[in-house]
Amino acid sequence: MANQQTIDKIREAGVVGAGGAGLPTQVKVNASVDTVLVNGASCEPLLASDPYLMEHEVDTLVRGLEAVMECTGASKGCICLKGKHAAAMASVRNAVSQTGGRISAVELGDFYPAGDEQVLVYEVLGRTVPERGLPLQVGAVVSNVETVFNVARALEGKPVTHRYLTVAGEIAHPMVVKAPIGTPVQDVLAFAGGPTINEYRVVDGGPMMGKVVPDVARAVVTKTTSGLLVLPPDHNVVARKVMDANKLRHFTNTCCCQCSRCTDLCPRHLLGHSLHPHKLMRVFANQEMEAAAAKEALLCSECGICEKFACPMGLSPREVNAQIKRVLMQGGVKWQNTGRELEANPFREERRAPTSRLIWHLGVAEYDTHPGYAGEITSAMVRIPLRQHIGAPAVCVVSEGAHVQCGDVIGEIPENAMGARVHASISGVVESVADGVVTIKA
Ligand code: SF4
Ligand code: SF4
Repeated sequence: MANQQTIDKIREAGVVGAGGAGLPTQVKVNASVDTVLVNGASCEPLLASDPYLMEHEVDTLVRGLEAVMECTGASKGCICLKGKHAAAMASVRNAVSQTGGRISAVELGDFYPAGDEQVLVYEVLGRTVPERGLPLQVGAVVSNVETVFNVARALEGKPVTHRYLTVAGEIAHPMVVKAPIGTPVQDVLAFAGGPTINEYRVVDGGPMMGKVVPDVARAVVTKTTSGLLVLPPDHNVVARKVMDANKLRHFTNTCCCQCSRCTDLCPRHLLGHSLHPHKLMRVFANQEMEAAAAKEALLCSECGICEKFACPMGLSPREVNAQIKRVLMQGGVKWQNTGRELEANPFREERRAPTSRLIWHLGVAEYDTHPGYAGEITSAMVRIPLRQHIGAPAVCVVSEGAHVQCGDVIGEIPENAMGARVHASISGVVESVADGVVTIKA
């Protein structure tokens, strides 16, 4: 039976999944499982804020994990991280040694996507999450490092007002930094000494799953911003993310040789899921969105291994799958589980993508500098979106001219809806409330 008091505190603090799409955490922890996994894989190249938190804020992290375990009734907790983060590993091992054996440190191999929650559950617990299913169906809750850190703070009555993120790429001083939610991306880049090139694009997140920021001047740090990567506009990582749909179809039609390497290396396929990206390339090229095979696209996590690592022709099964998925979801098509027992591929371990090779494939080796923590940004102005999470946008509860303190509620969860509270991240005056964004000036 979930602990309602803890769940209420998490909801009041506006905690959302910091490592993904921002699922409100009060929803995730309202479950009954035997194990909680803290996902510290930090498997996206270049991102360094999770290892920083595990090294320097491990006591808070352990408190957060204990709270999630209490909430879910779990008897076992694991903090999962890669051995290459030696300082973080030492810190975690030391902290868990004082928990009476309820919590352990789990060392992960250095491959991508070790942090995909279905991959993580298989690696650590040997359990296979059903196709399009959730870890809780196999008795586990998986939560990102910063989310669990925020849970511990929520129990102390501290809402989510700041975000730890990595600034990397073509930037004067790559760093891990703590920024108030709503800080303009340009202010973060300026804090890091500014871009080192005149023409650049910014990726919000890691090079594999991050998104190219469409308008840097308007973009802000949100609860899910794990990193800001500054890259040349023609960089491999950027170019593949902004490919036009017609060009994508043309390349798919003309260049896919059906070698099936994308399928052979697909992490979800290797777990035994019915996902065959090479077949989806045919579906897309022939515009057979109605075909039964098209539904497999619903199983794709968009991890990007097929695109950035597997395909010898430089094609993008990931983007093809994303486009098919969009069409299917708009049409209300759902995946129907066959109940088939999933069996991992016997070559799964050998076919995992080593991070060092991936970095080479991506062309980001020169940016892999393992930056340290550079402190906290003091923002003079923040633009805080009322929607930074899965579910309904928060309803604004402040009006123009209101004086707010850092931590005050400015957005409330709509009645009977799933959502997350939003708080002021600096003290100041509400300058405007428009288009779902609250602007506060210090
Ligand atoms: S790896 Fe590339 S060329 Fe081979 S089947 Fe997949 S998309 Fe086609
Ligand atoms: S993006 Fe490609 S490799 Fe990743 S799950 Fe989807 S099909 Fe598989």
